[in-house]
Amino acid sequence: MIVERAMAKVNLALHVLGRRADGYHLLDSVVGFADVADEIHIVEAAQSEFNVTGPFADGVPRDGSNLVLKAVAAVRHHMDLPSLSIRLEKNLPIAGGIGGGSSDAAATLRALQNIAGQKIPSQQLHEIALQLGADVPVCLAQRISRMEGIGEILSPLTQPPSPAIVLVNPNVECLTAEVFGELGLAKGQKFRDGVSLDTATTWRNDLLEPALRVQPVIGSVLAALNETGQCHTVQMSGSGATCFGLAHDIATARIVASEISEAYPNWWAAAASLQ
Ligand code: ATP
Repeated sequence: MIVERAMAKVNLALHVLGRRADGYHLLDSVVGFADVADEIHIVEAAQSEFNVTGPFADGVPRDGSNLVLKAVAAVRHHMDLPSLSIRLEKNLPIAGGIGGGSSDAAATLRALQNIAGQKIPSQQLHEIALQLGADVPVCLAQRISRMEGIGEILSPLTQPPSPAIVLVNPNVECLTAEVFGELGLAKGQKFRDGVSLDTATTWRNDLLEPALRVQPVIGSVLAALNETGQCHTVQMSGSGATCFGLAHDIATARIVASEISEAYPNWWAAAASLQ
């Protein structure tokens, strides 16, 4: 049995530079990983099966559209794999801007190489990942990185701006395509100039305004995190609705998460280390 953890991807900064003629958005993003994770359990079996368990199992596709199964299908083109019994434990909110599906796909790619006892050459692995989704390549290493282009240009960063993070999702789905649609860029349109991402003071999330129009409750999540007075930075991740607060240590992050869980019992809140 191979168990791979698929950590939450957090866009600590998400700058939209424009939109390519083919429709993809050009980004410049600082992506960190919060150590709260889905799990992929894979074992060789007489016949293939796929199950989804865990607190967010409802609403996860069970068919070939699931990114876990898409990753398996992509790898089968490159190497022989036995029949597999796969269980996805879904601990991360779905369509929440923390890349659950992308991280699951990357974890599956790592797990399958272990099962096969064979490495996919890194350039080929990167291409398979990118075909599965723009956020999948960055999720392969699960280390803080700068992500440019449509997600294909990656450079590792030395360390996160904070050791601890609190993630809060108000239990609403926020579809990435809807938020980009609300941003309203035409194909080929330039949005903003790039800025240096060297200091965290210039970091922003350009999808925040359109996401607030799609799910106004995001404003309440940001306010709740700010009101704790214990996070030095508060922002939304990806296309929302998950927001995060950065804390100076894990003990503070845990206090913030439990205060928010108590005040908003229907929301999901988790404290984690950031890497
Ligand atoms: P991102 O931040 O990369 O835009 P997200 O966190 O907003 O992603 P996901 O949780 O990855 O969104 O889910 C987006 C959609 O992908 C879901 O609505 C679901 O139908 C589909 N999907 C496919 N595979 C998975 C998976 N393994 N887990 C969750 N959703 C999946």
